Amino acid sequence: MAAGPATPAVAEVLARLADIAGRRAVLTEPAALAPFTQERRGLFAGRPVAGVFLPGSTAEVAAGVKLAAAAGMAIVTQGGNTGLVGGAAPAAEARPQLILATRRLKRIRALDAAADTLIAEAGCVLADVQAAAAAADRLFPLSLAAEGSCQLGGNLATNAGGLNVLRYGNARALTLGLEVVLADGRIWSDLSGLRKNNAGYDLKQLFIGSEGTLGIITAASLRLFPPLRSRATAWLAPVDPAAAVTALARLRGALGERVIACELISRFALDCVLRHVPAARAPLTAEAPWHLLVEIADTDAHYPCRERLVELAGALMDAGLVSDGVIAESEAQRQALWRLREAVPEAQRREGASIKHDVSVPVAAVPDLLAAATSAVQARDAGVRVCAFGHLGDGNIHLNLSRPVAMADADFLAQWDDYNRLVHDLVIERGGSIAAEHGVGQLKVDALERYGDAVSLALMRTLKTALDPAGVLNPGKVVRAGRG
Ligand SMILES: Cc1cc2nc3c(=O)[nH]c(=O)nc-3n(C[C@H](O)[C@H](O)[C@H](O)COP(=O)(O)OP(=O)(O)OC[C@H]3O[C@@H](n4cnc5c(N)ncnc54)[C@H](O)[C@@H]3O)c2cc1C
Repeated sequence: MAAGPATPAVAEVLARLADIAGRRAVLTEPAALAPFTQERRGLFAGRPVAGVFLPGSTAEVAAGVKLAAAAGMAIVTQGGNTGLVGGAAPAAEARPQLILATRRLKRIRALDAAADTLIAEAGCVLADVQAAAAAADRLFPLSLAAEGSCQLGGNLATNAGGLNVLRYGNARALTLGLEVVLADGRIWSDLSGLRKNNAGYDLKQLFIGSEGTLGIITAASLRLFPPLRSRATAWLAPVDPAAAVTALARLRGALGERVIACELISRFALDCVLRHVPAARAPLTAEAPWHLLVEIADTDAHYPCRERLVELAGALMDAGLVSDGVIAESEAQRQALWRLREAVPEAQRREGASIKHDVSVPVAAVPDLLAAATSAVQARDAGVRVCAFGHLGDGNIHLNLSRPVAMADADFLAQWDDYNRLVHDLVIERGGSIAAEHGVGQLKVDALERYGDAVSLALMRTLKTALDPAGVLNPGKVVRAGRG
C-alpha cells in the first residue's frame, strides 16, 4: 500500500518524528510500509496511511502522539500484527493514519524473582518474556501459538487468553501494572507491582483489552510463578463433546489446578492437520470424532504426573467417556501432540476460504452449541465443513467454517455476514460471547453493536470520549463513537 498524500502538516510531523527518534524510525516507502499495512488474512486494507513510526522509548511514543494528534492524524498501534480481527490494521479513515509499531520497545526492564515480578516493554516478543522468566527459574504462563511473533503490548491490549487460562487466567490476571501513553501524550505509569492497591479505581483494567483505543501500552509489570517441574500430556478420544466436558470435570475434580490445559479438537480439524502438515501423524490408531489434548503439571519435580494421568485416563475409559488415548512418553512426543493442536489454524487455511467464529459459552453449554451450530450451518449448506477446536476449559471454541470443497472462495466469503449471524445468534441464546479471546477489532464492530448490552455500549462510549475525545487512537475499532 502506498503512503497517503503527505499534506504539509503530515510531512512536518514525519520530519519531526525522524528528528526525535532517528531517520530509520520513520517509514514512508511503499515497500517498507507493506509488512505493517498487510493484515494476515487479507481482510482489511484501510487507508490512508501516512507512515510507520518505530519509537525506541516511552518518551518517543509520547512525543509522537502529541505531534500526530496536533496535526489531526489518527494513530494505529501495532505489535506483532498477529491479531485476527483487524485491530492493528488501518481502518478506512478520512484522516491520515500513523502506524505506531512497538517492536523497538523491547527491553526487559527488571525481574524480581523473590517478588515474582517482571517489568517488560510492550514490544517484547511473548516468547522472549517467557524466556527471561525461565532464565530466572520462573514461569510467565501466557502461551499461545503466535508466541514467537506476538508482542506483550498486543497480548495485553487484546487481553489474550491462550493455552493455560484454565490454571493461570488470561492476560488480565497476569498483569500487576502498566505504563501507558494517553491520547494527549501524557504518560500514566503504575509499574510498582503491588499485589494490593485499592487507592481508587483500578486504571490498568481500562487499558487491558481495549485494543489500542484508549491508550498505548509501553510497559507492563507482570506476575511470575514457580516453574512447572513435572508434567504429563495425554491425547484422548472422548466419545462426544458432552463426554469431553464430563471428563474435564472429573480430571479437575481429582487434580485441581494441576490440569493446566484442555483443548478440544474435532475430527475435521485434526484431518486438516494430517492432510497439510508434513510429518504430522495421527496420534491414535482408530479414527475418532472428537479429540482432547490434556496436560497436567506440578511445581514438585517428584509429583507423579504421568502415573496419575494414566490412572485417570483409565477411569475415564472404564466410565465410557473416552474410547481411546495415548500418553506422551517423551518431550518429543509431547511436542508432537501440541504441534497437532497448534497447526490447526494454518492447516485449515489450506482447505480454502473460511469464516471464523471465536466464541465462548458456559462450559456446560459447549456440546449443545456445537450440535446446534453444526446442524444450522449444514441446513443452510450441507457442504460446509465445521472446523471446531479450542480451549474447552474456558468454554472458548473456535467455531470455524471451511467452504464446501467445490465452492469458490469468493462465493463462500460473500456469505460471511449470514453465517456470522447464524452462529452468533446461537451463542447469544446460550448466554455466550461473540468475541471470546481475539477481541473486536474492525471485524466485530457491527456484531458488538447488534448483540452488545445497551448500557455496556453506552459506558464504553463514555470511556472512549473521556480518554480520547478527539478519537485519535485506533479509530474504527471496538466501539462506534458518538452514539447512545
Ligand atoms: C496462530 C495464531 C494463534 C493464536 N492463538 C491465540 C490464542 O490462543 N489466544 C489469544 O488470545 N489470541 C490468539 N491469537 C491472536 C493474537 O496472536 C493475539 O491476540 C495476540 O495477543 C496479539 O498480539 P500482537 O502483538 O500480534 O498484537 P497486534 O495484532 O499487533 O495488535 C492487536 C491489537 O492490540 C493493539 N495493540 C497492539 N500493541 C498495543 C500496545 N502496545 N498498546 C495498545 N494497543 C496495542 C492493536 O492496535 C490491535 O488492536 C492467535 C493468533 C494466531 C495468528
